[in-house]
Amino acid sequence: MGHAYSYRCDHCGFTESFNQGHGFLVHSQPVGDYLKQRTRIFHYKTHNLLRKMAQASDNLHLKAGFQIYKCPHCKTLYDKIEVTVFDDEAVVHKSEFRCRDCKTRLKLTNIHRLKRAICPRCRQRTFHRDYAQHELWDS
Ligand SMILES: [Zn+2]
Ligand SMILES: [Zn+2]
Repeated sequence: MGHAYSYRCDHCGFTESFNQGHGFLVHSQPVGDYLKQRTRIFHYKTHNLLRKMAQASDNLHLKAGFQIYKCPHCKTLYDKIEVTVFDDEAVVHKSEFRCRDCKTRLKLTNIHRLKRAICPRCRQRTFHRDYAQHELWDS
């Protein structure tokens, strides 16, 4: 189960919602099980990497879920499917994302503490949580 957080810009009215959490297809599982599925959920680069890693070890499992990221430079928000791969207990891979504008590495952000961000459309610091629009989603 996850949450959809809506943001709205006071300046230009732009709205966007960001997902955080786990869904039906995006959850914790052995890498072998993921690779047996017909649907490819993750980015193709992640998918190919998982396939390669699975050849080297059969002890891998992964955790995946939507996380909300922020560009430390532009202060704009993104939601991405973060994939972490474990070999036994050790983390052997973790997704990394870059800002589409400035290519800076995105940082995980705590949506509960984040009150305001920069609007991706008008670039004003008037992009904030719209509490009336909070939704829960399943699967
Ligand atoms: Zn705006
Ligand atoms: Zn940026």
